[in-house]
Amino acid sequence: MAFTCATGKNRASGKHRRPGRFERTTARAAGVAALTATGVIGTLAAPALAAEPAAEQTGLIPVITVDDTLADQIDAQAAAQRQAAQEAAARKQAAEEAARKKAAEKAKQEREAKERAAREAERKRLLSYVAPISGSYVSTGYKSGGAVWSSGSHTGVDFHAASGTSVHAVGSGTVVEAGWGGSYGNNIVIKMNDGTYTQYGHLSSIGVSVGQTVTPGQQIGLSGATGNVTGPHLHFEARTTAEYGSDIDPVAYLRSHGVNV
Ligand SMILES: [Zn+2]
Repeated sequence: MAFTCATGKNRASGKHRRPGRFERTTARAAGVAALTATGVIGTLAAPALAAEPAAEQTGLIPVITVDDTLADQIDAQAAAQRQAAQEAAARKQAAEEAARKKAAEKAKQEREAKERAAREAERKRLLSYVAPISGSYVSTGYKSGGAVWSSGSHTGVDFHAASGTSVHAVGSGTVVEAGWGGSYGNNIVIKMNDGTYTQYGHLSSIGVSVGQTVTPGQQIGLSGATGNVTGPHLHFEARTTAEYGSDIDPVAYLRSHGVNV
């Protein structure tokens, strides 16, 4: 018993660690060794010689010592690897979360920018003006004289258009008249959003009703030859009020709103 081994000293030095796989294996081996030793020596009755310490009294001591040191090292290494893996996993998760947040923020900004652009485009569209007949031309000018007009001169312009051609609201506004207009035939008057009025005469068909709001380019009816006409066309007027006689030059009016006529 005097040759108390290095292992014993290690344990007595107060070094604490939880048992690892190798140590448990070692303990089992020590138990087997103790039983064998009991059989051979027959003197292992002292409490100090229970289990592992008993094994230290056998010839296995150097092996156990090496195994324990190795187990310490492997345990420490495994613990370090586990910690490193946990830290790496935590870093990866944090990076992924940050990337997700960044992507979500970017998508949100892009969506908002797209919505802003769409609102701006729609605002511009509603402020824009178009010709009442697409791809047409003025066949009779403003203020041109002739017996056909009750005032003695033309209060609007005539756009060349075969019967049944689509007639468009030239801009945004509200329909204030839609029906028979005497010499204008079937006609529509729109109060534009800027306070001016536009009139569309001689229609073969009316597609809107009073109170309805219209947007630039919206079809409001079809051209025709109703009222006081010699043939199909669209009579178009621009006015400062809803009343007849407040007419202004419709070509200049359209051009002032950017329409190429
Ligand atoms: Zn006319």
